[in-house]
Amino acid sequence: MDRRTFLSLAAVSPLLAKEQFVLKDNIFIPKDALYTPKKIETIQNDIFIKDDERAIFASARARIRRVKRFVGYGNFNIIAFDSVLYYARNYSSIGKFPKKELELLDKLFYEDPTKYGFYGKKISSSITTRISKKHIKKVPRTGHYLFKGKALEDYKRLKQDIGKNLILTSGVRSVVKQMSLYMDKIYSLNGNITKASYSLAPPAYTYHSIKDFDVGKKGFGYDNFTERFARTSEFRELKKLSYISMRYKKNNKDGVRYEPWHVKVI
Ligand SMILES: [Zn+2]
Repeated sequence: MDRRTFLSLAAVSPLLAKEQFVLKDNIFIPKDALYTPKKIETIQNDIFIKDDERAIFASARARIRRVKRFVGYGNFNIIAFDSVLYYARNYSSIGKFPKKELELLDKLFYEDPTKYGFYGKKISSSITTRISKKHIKKVPRTGHYLFKGKALEDYKRLKQDIGKNLILTSGVRSVVKQMSLYMDKIYSLNGNITKASYSLAPPAYTYHSIKDFDVGKKGFGYDNFTERFARTSEFRELKKLSYISMRYKKNNKDGVRYEPWHVKVI
């Protein structure tokens, strides 16, 4: 097993230490059989951030995070790429994006994600796509926005039908916000873009940029973004509602994991 393969396995489950693997038919298999050989093969075929791009990736990610701290969480959800460049250029605490970082961001936005096994529809055509404040409304006490019209109506109806324990966990996301989440995901998976795009749509491909939103159970924290959400009473109530459907069902054609929390706005 090469270093990357081991690192990616370790990233999937930090509890897996090297000695927990056994060598069989020249393939390392975890002793607890958490992974089948087929899955290990898939991991070996995964695409990673290239070695010579890792430093650029890390510094671009850190710069975007500095912009986020600068503008604040709520504003960052809807920030346009041109605004990010503006803040970077004008505030030395953030610092101008070097050409190589811009090229990398461009690549992450414009490249074809089918090579990573992501088959969803392209939603935003340009990295500079803006979200007009006229079309969105801030949802009090959440730090999130929703698109006016169907998304906002669906959410209000949901709150009425399920009650105050049903919360908005993510609403409108600009291209930049999605880029930031995508880069965080890649980073947490040791540069594995294939794995990242399985649990998060690449920046140009999220329906959060035009209508969809995520819901969760109050006080459930990070579990709201795991399959554990599907075992809550809030989710069971949600499923009964005829006006609500899910974007990413089990084994969906987009190549995205099952996301019971992601509401598809029709
Ligand atoms: Zn979502």
